[in-house]
Amino acid sequence: DEPMIEAIGLSKYYGNFAASRDVTFSINKGEVAAFLGPNGAGKSTTMKLLTGYLAPSAGTAKIAGFNMGTERLLGAERLGYLPENGPLYPDMSPRSLLTFFGNARGMAGMELRKRIEEVVSRCHLEAVIGKPIGKLSKGYRQRVGMAQALLHNPDVLILDEPTAGLDPNQIREVRKLIRELGETKTILLSTHILQEVEAMCNRVLFINEGRLVFDGTPQELAADQ
Ligand code: ADP
Ligand code: ADP
Repeated sequence: DEPMIEAIGLSKYYGNFAASRDVTFSINKGEVAAFLGPNGAGKSTTMKLLTGYLAPSAGTAKIAGFNMGTERLLGAERLGYLPENGPLYPDMSPRSLLTFFGNARGMAGMELRKRIEEVVSRCHLEAVIGKPIGKLSKGYRQRVGMAQALLHNPDVLILDEPTAGLDPNQIREVRKLIRELGETKTILLSTHILQEVEAMCNRVLFINEGRLVFDGTPQELAADQ
């Protein structure tokens, strides 16, 4: 088993308050895992520690074996991240955003145009490719964020509430996309909905008050209740 997402004693303190405390787990290649927990449990914070966007107060995060404190760029090449509220940059169109991020990752020309076409088709963004992101519905914005996370074809995905705020049709579509992606990639997603976990994941990490309180299969979690 090859660990692709590792938290080793990760903690994040804001003053005396621990948003994430001593979280340790390892997700192997090919697993689709969920962070499950109520709002404010520390899911987003722990995900930002894993991606290296937030420096931990203690502990180490590793992506594809790379220490996100000391080898962050190497880890970032292997990682796609969907942030909590989808992409920023409301004035950019999906096309310009994807071009911008592709360039930042060293892609250009035909290679980049082909890759953008692929993720746009995969995330069903054809109809809005030239429109300002700030004018798009929540469902479209979320899918623009997914397209951005997939652009450099990473083998690890960290997806913060990928279905939050979507309507039932959009939720079905995003779940289907994640299940397809899970056939070839290692995924950690967050949700506060148990059915979400059962629909997509073979592993569940329950977080409460910053602590990891359960780590097992969705079936074991159901039996535990
Ligand atoms: P979740 O993603 O599970 O909803 P978060 O990780 O966003 O939880 O937040 C965990 C807790 O940490 C919450 O109580 C939140 O208010 C707090 N928190 C998050 N970011 C900060 C910050 N920058 N400063 C102070 N408290 C924060
Ligand atoms: P910046 O945003 O300025 O690039 P960060 O706030 O991400 O910096 O990181 C500040 C420091 O914490 C850096 O030395 C960085 O290497 C380290 N760091 C960030 N994330 C992690 C992590 N997940 N594990 C260990 N160290 C980290």
